[in-house]
Amino acid sequence: MRGSISISRVSFLAKKIVKTTRNQRQFSSVAVQRNNEVHSSFENDPIDITKVSVARPRLEQLREKLKSTTDSLDSYSTKQTSKPNPLKTSNLSWKQVLNSAKEYYGVEEDIQPNQDMLTDTFQRTHSYLRISLGERCNLRCLYCMPPEGVPLQPKDSLLNAAEIDRLTSLFTAGGVDKVRLTGGEPLLRKDLPEIISSIASRPTINSVGITTNGITLSRHLPTLVEAGMTHANISLDTLVDSKFTEITRRKGLSKVLKAIEDACEMLPKGNVKINCVVMKGFNDDELRDFVQLSKDLPVDVRFIEWMPFNDNGWNKDRFLSYQDMMTRLTYDEDGNVSSSRNGLGPFELKRLVDGANDTTKWWHVDGYAGRLGFITSMTQNFCGTCNRVRLTADGQLKVCLFGSAEVSLRDAMREGASDSDLSLIVRAALQKKKFALGGHGNAEGIKKANNNRPMTLIGG
Ligand code: SF4
Repeated sequence: MRGSISISRVSFLAKKIVKTTRNQRQFSSVAVQRNNEVHSSFENDPIDITKVSVARPRLEQLREKLKSTTDSLDSYSTKQTSKPNPLKTSNLSWKQVLNSAKEYYGVEEDIQPNQDMLTDTFQRTHSYLRISLGERCNLRCLYCMPPEGVPLQPKDSLLNAAEIDRLTSLFTAGGVDKVRLTGGEPLLRKDLPEIISSIASRPTINSVGITTNGITLSRHLPTLVEAGMTHANISLDTLVDSKFTEITRRKGLSKVLKAIEDACEMLPKGNVKINCVVMKGFNDDELRDFVQLSKDLPVDVRFIEWMPFNDNGWNKDRFLSYQDMMTRLTYDEDGNVSSSRNGLGPFELKRLVDGANDTTKWWHVDGYAGRLGFITSMTQNFCGTCNRVRLTADGQLKVCLFGSAEVSLRDAMREGASDSDLSLIVRAALQKKKFALGGHGNAEGIKKANNNRPMTLIGG
């Protein structure tokens, strides 16, 4: 009968869950190991696409197997207790989440924030916090918002500097050591230096970055670096002046390019990145020109697979995969150089070793000052090592970029929640985190669900 479950079934599922969890750990470590093998096989070798295609099917099999295992974990976890599960209902008020969490975990006294707070059901620990500082932007990108902009929340709905400081304190106590400030455009926040300074002053923080469109970055750089900013990611999708103006509905390409140069001068090598979202028919004719930017400048150029967000026009016909980008960069059929407006020929790329929680697959052109990276969220997601949580500008905690579940830490703070309460809410929210891509499976699944915020209101 629907909704009921026998004792023997519970026992069977309990055994299964132990076994599948063990298997899942094994699959994870095998997948990581295989990944490392693939990486090290490319280290110091020119790209060999044959090696990529030999390694890929095995990784795909492991991913499929891991996915079915985690699906079974999900279905089991709904049945294991008759207590109200705070982890299974989206978008409850913070009080509902807190009360359910207290009952679920049997918590009667105040607790101190610790690493348990930021560990999910897949034993992933979350040490990277991304905070959106606002919804406003000084560009009007065609694929992001209408010419008149989007309806904005009143300023007092957004987290203020003191609230950001309190939440940073909470998350650092839970193990966060890296923070990125996003938007909207974070440089439009007048209190940005103050926010950076308060985050950077925490002893366990070792990285404070911003993601910006770069239009006004040059002007702010000295103050921000002085305040403690360590990294800058600059979004730039075209190097063609007229296309930049057409797409962003504003002039400014020369300012962005200047900002990239200035940031490279003021920040250590490896701490300045260009983020370029690649779309067929839009900028796929500029791939090699982007790589060329890293020839003399110590800037890392990252190509990002286009991801579906609510109403951003994503469609598979305009999607360009990592493998297709790689082919365009390294190979010319019959002398076809259509991947460069400036007639640059194919590159010989060398694979580099990626960091432990890196979202980027890193490559390098011999003799170039910067690196080349790919963010392959749609074709080879990196969710297995995800260490990211997000706060929207209005203080909603989002545990996955593609998950629609949110809980308001802003409301909790403004209505008197203690740090103990906040840490329980965060812990409960993390238990809802799906293994990959918000549980939607793939890009088509994300597009179909269409239940997330637009990227500009998440903060990327
Ligand atoms: S899609 Fe979700 S789980 Fe995957 S890396 Fe992004 S935030 Fe992490």
